[in-house]
This record gives sequence, structure tokens and C-alpha cells, in this order.
Amino acid sequence: MLKAGIVGLPNVGKSTLFNALVANAQAQAANFPFCTIEPNVGTVAVPDERLDQLTKLSSSIDTIPTRMEFVDIAGLVKGASQGEGLGNKFLANIREVDAIVHVIRCFEDDDVIHVSGSVGPARDAEVINLELGLADLAQIEKRRERLKKQMRTSKEAQQEDAALERIQTVLEDGGAARSVELGEEEALMIKPLGLLTAKPIIYATNVSEEDLAEGNAFCTEVINLAANEGAETVRISAQVEAELIELGDDERSDYLEGLGVSEGGLQSLIQATYRLLGLRTYFTTGEKETRAWTFKAGMTAPQAAGVIHTDFERGFIRAQTIGWEKLIEAGSFAEARNKGWLRSEGKDYVVDEGDVMEFLFNV
Ligand code: GDP
Repeated sequence: MLKAGIVGLPNVGKSTLFNALVANAQAQAANFPFCTIEPNVGTVAVPDERLDQLTKLSSSIDTIPTRMEFVDIAGLVKGASQGEGLGNKFLANIREVDAIVHVIRCFEDDDVIHVSGSVGPARDAEVINLELGLADLAQIEKRRERLKKQMRTSKEAQQEDAALERIQTVLEDGGAARSVELGEEEALMIKPLGLLTAKPIIYATNVSEEDLAEGNAFCTEVINLAANEGAETVRISAQVEAELIELGDDERSDYLEGLGVSEGGLQSLIQATYRLLGLRTYFTTGEKETRAWTFKAGMTAPQAAGVIHTDFERGFIRAQTIGWEKLIEAGSFAEARNKGWLRSEGKDYVVDEGDVMEFLFNV
């Protein structure tokens, strides 16, 4: 399962956010007895309104969302790349995730100490990004040193070194590896390095409850900074999410309505991170269950079938498929078939976001 790591300076609200994610997961854990929850890894359901509509259409007994993982990576501080504050251990944890959720403190509260003495989103973001960049630079220097000898005889080594040199220049300028355009071969060559600044990133601006609806000047600072990098920003209130855990359904709606919002930001954050990871959803639906399945953008029908079971991929014959909206519009599979909307697709079909699939396969 692909993982997103939650990073940020101390006291920005990472643990509060992570606990809210895990609490949501625990509330749903009854449906997933096989899912264990580790202290800093949370498996969360990806919220999806389409599931409810399809469940209604099929009168399904069960509704099963798809899931993704978040990892709480605490302890990143200035100097981490030099090994300060257990720095290297945390950087190694980040190396293992597939995307980064960078939490930025955008709330003021005199009771919560700020490591730099005041709230300053752009400065904070830079502190973390600099540590990640320095760690990458160290990694690149080590690798280039190794390549030196090989370069005399190997074309590949020369090619890799040239790519690394380009990345190094950008990093030395304070940029991120993800901003360097690489050819397919080059990208494959440097992948094993697991460069931290090459991972896709999303910024989460953590605001207090009164700023959840409209945001504030701190959020704007982050939005501008993120836009410069071509990254997305999601506004959340970790504190509101923490409060929501304690409330029943009715109280939740009242509380959120009072704040002028429909959610605390957690759902949007999960959905945005899911997309950031290049993940897509298709559905299966019937009387027994309506279920969302995760596939990677670009997967063919047999590969997507393999997500359910490897036998489905091996024995794949064809798929019956229809976009979820079309199916809802038709009102039932039978009606969709009558209208000629249900398509029969073969091995080369590239599955689309929101497809409802029925696989035919040999066992
Ligand atoms: P971490 O070090 O980044 O994991 O930060 P924590 O989640 O432990 O939060 C640090 C402190 O800030 C805790 O006391 C939280 O209750 C508080 N906190 C988190 N989010 C908010 C917020 O949106 N507003 C306010 N006022 N306090 C918050």
C-alpha cells in the first residue's frame, strides 16, 4: 500500500492530525478485522460520496471504501540532516514514504510554544525543505563519488552523473529535486536514491477553528509558496478534527455548521493525498457489497482486476464497464444494458477514474 508521511516542525499539529486520522480508522476498524494499527502508521478510509450512490442503486448490504496509509514522522528539526534530534532516523523514515504531507502552523496560540518563537509559515516551510534538500545533497555527493570510477568505462554511469549534477545545482540553489525534468531513463536511474525532495508534496495549513471557513494571511503565504512549486495546499484544523472525534453525528453537523464549513479538512486532505500518490478508484457493485478499489493511473483492465485477486489478472477474459455517473443515470445495470451503455472491454482497456467494473475471467 502506498504511504504518505506527515512531516513538519514540532508543535505544528502533526500528532493531533494523525490521531484524528487514526481515530477515524479505528471507528471503521470493525469492518477490517485484519487491519492492524501501528503506533505511527494509520490506515484510513478514502471518503467517497460515489460509494453511497452506488450502494443505493444496488441495495448493497455492505459498503467498503478503499484505503491508504499515513505515517506520522515526528521529530524533524533544524539540523536534522546533520544528525541533530535523531535527525537521520527521521529522514530515513521519510525516505520510505511515497508522498509528503507538510503540515504548516497557521494558528496563533500563546500556550503552544513555537520552536522559532513566532508563527511564520514561509520560514517554517523553508526550514523543513532545507533539511530535506541538505539530506539529498549529501546523498548525491556520496553517489557521485562512487560513480567517478565507473564513469571511465560506463555510459550509464556518465548519464546518471549528468542527471545528478543537474539536480545538485537546483538543490544548491534552494530548489527541490522534483522540479528537475528528467527523461524516463534518468528517472529510473536515480530512483534507488530515494531523494526526499523528489517525492510529491502537499501542504496542509493548520488553522484554528475560527479561521477554518475563510483561512487567514498565514494560509495565503503558504498558498503562494506552494503555487511557486506547483504544489497543492489543503486547509485543515487539526483541533476541530480532534473535537469531532468526541461528537455524535448530529452534534458534528451542528458544530461544523456553526463554523461555516462542511468538514474539518481531513476528508479533503485524504482525497488530495490519494490523488497526489497517483491513485485512482474503480468500483464493483452488487447486492452483497459496493466497493471501491484502488488502482494506479494508467493501469489496464487485467492489471486493475489483479488488484482484487491475482487470479483475476491471470485468467482475465474481458470486463463489462460503465462510468459510475452513467450507471446512476440509467438507474440499474439492466437498464444500462438496454440503452447500450454497458461496454465490453478487452485486455488493452485503460481503466478510467470512476469506472464500475465487472470482470469475466477463467479460473
Ligand atoms: P506536533 O508536534 O506537530 O505533533 O504537534 P501536536 O499535534 O502535538 O500539537 C502541539 C500543540 O498544539 C498541542 O497542544 C495541540 O493541542 C495544539 N494544536 C494543534 N492544532 C491546533 C490548532 O489548530 N489550534 C490551536 N490553538 N492549537 C492547536
